[in-house]
Amino acid sequence: MNDHSQQPLQFKFHWLNDKGHPTSMMRKKGRFEGETITLEEAEIPVAAIVNSSVREKKFAIVAIAADEQEEYVTLLIQLPSKKLAESLKKEMDLARSALWAKQHQKELEEKGLGHTFRQEQCPRCTATLILSDMPQSPQLYCHFCDSLSTIDPNSDPIPQERDLRVCEECSMYTRPQKFTIFYFYFLLVIYGFSSSSTWRCPPCMRGEAWKMLFGNLLFVLGVPTAIWQLVRSYGGSSVGGPFKGLDTGNIKARKGDLAGALESYRNILENVPISAGVKYNLGMAVLAQGNLEKAAETFEIALQDCSNYVPAYSQLHHLLQQLGETEKLTELEQMWSSGTEQTESEPEEIQTDLDEQQ
Ligand SMILES: [Zn+2]
Ligand SMILES: [Zn+2]
Repeated sequence: MNDHSQQPLQFKFHWLNDKGHPTSMMRKKGRFEGETITLEEAEIPVAAIVNSSVREKKFAIVAIAADEQEEYVTLLIQLPSKKLAESLKKEMDLARSALWAKQHQKELEEKGLGHTFRQEQCPRCTATLILSDMPQSPQLYCHFCDSLSTIDPNSDPIPQERDLRVCEECSMYTRPQKFTIFYFYFLLVIYGFSSSSTWRCPPCMRGEAWKMLFGNLLFVLGVPTAIWQLVRSYGGSSVGGPFKGLDTGNIKARKGDLAGALESYRNILENVPISAGVKYNLGMAVLAQGNLEKAAETFEIALQDCSNYVPAYSQLHHLLQQLGETEKLTELEQMWSSGTEQTESEPEEIQTDLDEQQ
């Protein structure tokens, strides 16, 4: 039916326990073929997968449970390489997004609403995104690869957009990088060490890098790593090109310096007038000031640039609830309900799970 079904992706894997450690020495066989992923004995239809997340070689899958005891099941596996984990995720995302879109279209047609069906393909990962009931907008958000892309044919392509996404630590739109946190816990575990990876923007890493340096000074082995991380987190502005000053703006926003943040963001928006991400940051800055109405307005403006921008939607949804704006809330929910089967309800939770399981 599609080219994913022609070549099954075969791989070896380890099951991981909830601490992120392999449950046995034995490697198991896995296979992904078109509409089904098979992990040892378990056959999981990709359409039942609501979320998947990759951290290095580790791969977490959240699927709707087959039995009624639990709503969701989380499967945690480790693949032989990061590359394989990433390509498996990508292939599965493409397959399930296409299946959902097809199913959604069928449902609309059965209701006589076939003409309202709208889909778009993510220019980064080519996943299919359902946009029925969403107004046309110059940008497109992909919840499979977290990218925000300008798709308006009248706008110049912005290559720097590729690296920008919402930081897991501070929730600002920025350029998160992978940092290695490397601690020696010589008091807790003699000669033992713990190393984990996380995606954070450089300003968010600063506190962590200092903590790491102080922790490691007690045990000289870890110092070079800590110093390198510290240099990296301070090393100039990580975001360049038309988005130069984004980190400065974000730091100011988080410190409650709204005027300062506004100035940084205004400079960026002069170069890139369409950016749901930057406008979302502005909303976060206003929110940090406690001005809920103004923050809600700003998130609405961000959604005009990208009607399916989930980070702005989640904030706006929460704010409308707090403000008791029931009418607006219903309207917003209706617009977003077309794609309910594809809006992942708990991505944050799963990400945290994976972080802990390093
Ligand atoms: Zn994508
Ligand atoms: Zn951050």
